[in-house]
Amino acid sequence: MFIATPRNGLAPVLSVEGLRVELPGARGPVFPVRDISFSIVAGETLGVVGESGAGKSMTGSAVLGLIDPPGRVTGGLIRLNGDRIDNLSETQMQAIRGRRIGAIFQDPMTALDPLFTVGSQIVETILTHQDLDAKQAHKKAISLLESVGLPSPAQRMEDYPHQLSGGMRQRVVIALALCNDPELVIADEPTTALDVSTQAQIISLLKDLCEERGVAVMLVTHDMGVIAEAADRVAVMYAGRIVEIGSVHEVLRKPRHPYTRGLVNSIPRVSRRKASLFQIEGAMPPLDATPSGCAFHPRCDFAVDACSKDLPPLRAWDGGASACWLPVDESPLDDQSLAPRPADYESRFQIPDAAPLVEVDQVSKHFGSAASWLSRFTARLSSGVNRAVDDVSFHILRGETFALVGESGCGKSTLARMIVGLHPATSGMVRFGGVDVAGMRRQRRFQMVFQDPYASLNPRWRVFDIVAEPVRTHGVDAGAGVARRVHEILEKVGLSARDADKYPHEFSGGQRQRISIARALVSEPELIVCDEPTSALDVSVQAQILNLLKSLQHEFGLTLLFISHDLAVVRHMADRIAIMQGGRIVETGNANDIFTRPAHSYTRALLAAVPDIDVAIARKAPPDHGLKLNRLSG
Ligand code: SF4
Repeated sequence: MFIATPRNGLAPVLSVEGLRVELPGARGPVFPVRDISFSIVAGETLGVVGESGAGKSMTGSAVLGLIDPPGRVTGGLIRLNGDRIDNLSETQMQAIRGRRIGAIFQDPMTALDPLFTVGSQIVETILTHQDLDAKQAHKKAISLLESVGLPSPAQRMEDYPHQLSGGMRQRVVIALALCNDPELVIADEPTTALDVSTQAQIISLLKDLCEERGVAVMLVTHDMGVIAEAADRVAVMYAGRIVEIGSVHEVLRKPRHPYTRGLVNSIPRVSRRKASLFQIEGAMPPLDATPSGCAFHPRCDFAVDACSKDLPPLRAWDGGASACWLPVDESPLDDQSLAPRPADYESRFQIPDAAPLVEVDQVSKHFGSAASWLSRFTARLSSGVNRAVDDVSFHILRGETFALVGESGCGKSTLARMIVGLHPATSGMVRFGGVDVAGMRRQRRFQMVFQDPYASLNPRWRVFDIVAEPVRTHGVDAGAGVARRVHEILEKVGLSARDADKYPHEFSGGQRQRISIARALVSEPELIVCDEPTSALDVSVQAQILNLLKSLQHEFGLTLLFISHDLAVVRHMADRIAIMQGGRIVETGNANDIFTRPAHSYTRALLAAVPDIDVAIARKAPPDHGLKLNRLSG
């Protein structure tokens, strides 16, 4: 088998050889992790990346000994600084977790007990594993909270988790993970639940602390931007196997495996804009239907006969390895295809006769005393009034994509709901086509697409009824016309008329979002509000949905109000942008101007915080992070 070891010759802190995980399935056992091998040395961060179902989190759980029975590790060796840990009892693993291996998960609230102060939780963890008295442990806890950048750490020791912001809680979780000076930290999507500016701080904090302390880090994420910023090497997983591994610089700049090339190409970039994103068609196969041979072959544009029959082994190239039957392609990604073209910046608002479809005129939304408990958490409150949206004015032109951008709680979703009449404004007016929306009854001219397609689709309804509902409600059509419209729109969004008889749970996340878009489109609206429509989706599926929205906009002349915290997605989609902070719009303008010449300090801070793949790749020095591949027997 091949196992990647760092060039610097250090002995690995974590060594995984031939790891295999088995879970029971309806039709026999399934294998979410299949014979994977890798190692991580002290101070190094290995990013493990792939779409949902690739096996990356399961690999982290296997190393932590946290696979829920009856799932189990059925093959391979896991060594921590030479000590075998895959064959230990649960009691022995408990002693290792928290002491020799620290863990950081996506949601800090699951790692913290809401009933205890953060200080007492860190002290307790130190006392469980170290020979220190309470006073020493308390002192160490304060110094840890200081090192993770918590202001006034001694006072914060007395806070309960709910009294801290999401970013502060994740800092506490990092302190908890490091409090016993572990050899290895496993971080599973540690920044996914955080705002973009907090994400950047947490990524660099984790990286700096682990480098300083010589801790090896396994960083599991679906986010290539996070990998580019934080990892030294990256392992790309597909259907339970590592299909490519190597230095971040090499793998992201010159991906050799077709799947990696597709993944990297499908990511929208903050620094440049493409007319459309590269799409990997299809989705990760379910565990009980993993294709034979190369599991990627049904989605691969380059598949040859051998691909469906034989499993390609990992083959070494200088600095890494990839598993593909094709000759190794050393060419860098085509930078020209990613470069901005003048047409990319053609905005519909530049069309001379473009008229406003939506006019937002000095609109405010204040929540009253019921919101006063929030005063502990937000500085925007005064006199028990939460100014969720505060004196905001802008307009959206027909046919353009207008984006509202800002961190959680900035008021962008509240504002969007006021525009479609779901929330009344406290003051000011929203006009749609010149008419005050406050006086409009529920109507077909605007529709919404939400972040979580599953939550927005009635699970007990067939797709036909879900999509037909707005047609019937608004009297758009009747009788056979309803079925004709539903079937036509399903085809338009890339589904088939046969899908109308199925239920939402029978579809993948991306397909469910296509159903939401079909439902939004079917009543022929003029405006669609897309509220974080791709944040719950894998990057390859995100590319499919963004391309779909753009082509439908073109075909139907739609106006889109696009709400997102993801600046790369906004860069790809928007003609004009409004940046929101604390309920107010701090900057608005042409998308290209905002991204290239941001005027407001908050916009500049937001842009600076975005993990940018191009910048990060350029920064990585290949000689420091390269690999050599050793051929091991067995
Ligand atoms: Fe594509 Fe075949 Fe390579 Fe798999 S082995 S990535 S199917 S070319």
